[in-house]
Amino acid sequence: MAFFVQKFGGTSVGTVERIEAVADRIVASRAAGDDIVVVVSAMSGETNRLIGLAEQIQAQPTPRELDVLVSTGEQVTIALLSMALHKRGCAARSFTGGQVRILTDESHTRARIREIDSERIKGELASGSVVVVAGFQGVDEHGNITTLGRGGSDTSAVALAAALGADECQIYTDVKGVYTTDPRVVEDARLLRSITFEEMLELASLGAKVLQIRSVEFAGKYKVPLRVLSSFEDDPGTLITLEDDKEMEAPIISGIAFTRDEAKVTVTGVPDVPGVAYQVLGPVSDAGIEVDVIVQNVAADGSTDITFTVKRQDSEKTRALVAGIAERIGAKDVSFDKKIAKVSLVGVGMRSHAGIASKMFKTLADESINIQIITTSEIKISVVIEEKYLELAVRSLHAAFGLGGEPGAG
Ligand code: ADP
Ligand code: ASP
Ligand code: MG
Repeated sequence: MAFFVQKFGGTSVGTVERIEAVADRIVASRAAGDDIVVVVSAMSGETNRLIGLAEQIQAQPTPRELDVLVSTGEQVTIALLSMALHKRGCAARSFTGGQVRILTDESHTRARIREIDSERIKGELASGSVVVVAGFQGVDEHGNITTLGRGGSDTSAVALAAALGADECQIYTDVKGVYTTDPRVVEDARLLRSITFEEMLELASLGAKVLQIRSVEFAGKYKVPLRVLSSFEDDPGTLITLEDDKEMEAPIISGIAFTRDEAKVTVTGVPDVPGVAYQVLGPVSDAGIEVDVIVQNVAADGSTDITFTVKRQDSEKTRALVAGIAERIGAKDVSFDKKIAKVSLVGVGMRSHAGIASKMFKTLADESINIQIITTSEIKISVVIEEKYLELAVRSLHAAFGLGGEPGAG
């Protein structure tokens, strides 16, 4: 007998029929003697629909009310799934995040989990029930409803698995597992049988939305065995492993992630004196705007240009702020570009292999794709390019690094 936390994402509970299919799957696990805590997302499209309603009333609703609103999506699913389990003669009880006391900080819309009261859930499990918990939501110490950021049900599931000591946290989704890149963009993307936490964290941070970043951080920190698998097919999916567990030599490149979520800001003709990077970027980060890639370069006339990227949703706020800064420091011009995309190669094997960057640049050059910015770390190389070339870039890099083919380890 094993103890699993099983999370079902939006598409997997997108219709009543699919909720019934999830119930069948859970009943089968119970029949095998396993204890199950289920975490569910809102039915697919529901969170967006709720945000849309709010925006019809107010462009920027207060985060507290937004959380009260969007958390309702998951509440619908826990009730429906519990009913589907009852119909099958399976004891089940649904709980909101607040009821099982998933205690978070007070940062509405992007709260962090602080503590979970595992006793309540353990009691329910001991009485023989399947425990069905609403993902994505928690409660702060004053009893206000909070949410964990988009895709946050993954993090609810991993946090519950850590708090309850589950044997495995299983993330059921609409693809068979973690692939070398988004299988919706590259047809011959290869299913990975295993991937290290470190690589998964990079892929998630660089845009692969199959797992929320925080869920991977959490799983790594608390050593929760984590698996991504399909709710529609029977397949063991992908196991996220600790690096030491790897028997085989790490592949040089494990995957390609990409994002269309960023916008590029360039401040040109900045007088080149000590402290300019701070003068430009300090106020941006003080305003709570997350800056991703940064480059600074000295022009022939001795002035300097600073280019950086921010989340596309922050571009208007950044535009207003940077216009003021540019004027204050005597910069010549500020330009914005929302039509950019970032493509990243990820792999722990890069540490011990030279020449990956040049192969990446040559592949893009052969397709006449201009690179605007390059950044690297030990296990990744990212380039910013024009958005219209994104799919071409991902496909050609996937082919150039030989990532396609049949499922295999790592
Ligand atoms: P859920 O609703 O189950 O949480 P998500 O839409 O959040 O599902 O995440 C699953 C999606 O992630 C897939 O449908 C796929 O398009 C996308 N994805 C992006 N990169 C990858 C990748 N490397 N491997 C698998 N899926 C990926
Ligand atoms: N329903 C939330 C969202 O759409 C949380 C989740 O699905 O994980 O972001
Ligand atoms: Mg998701």
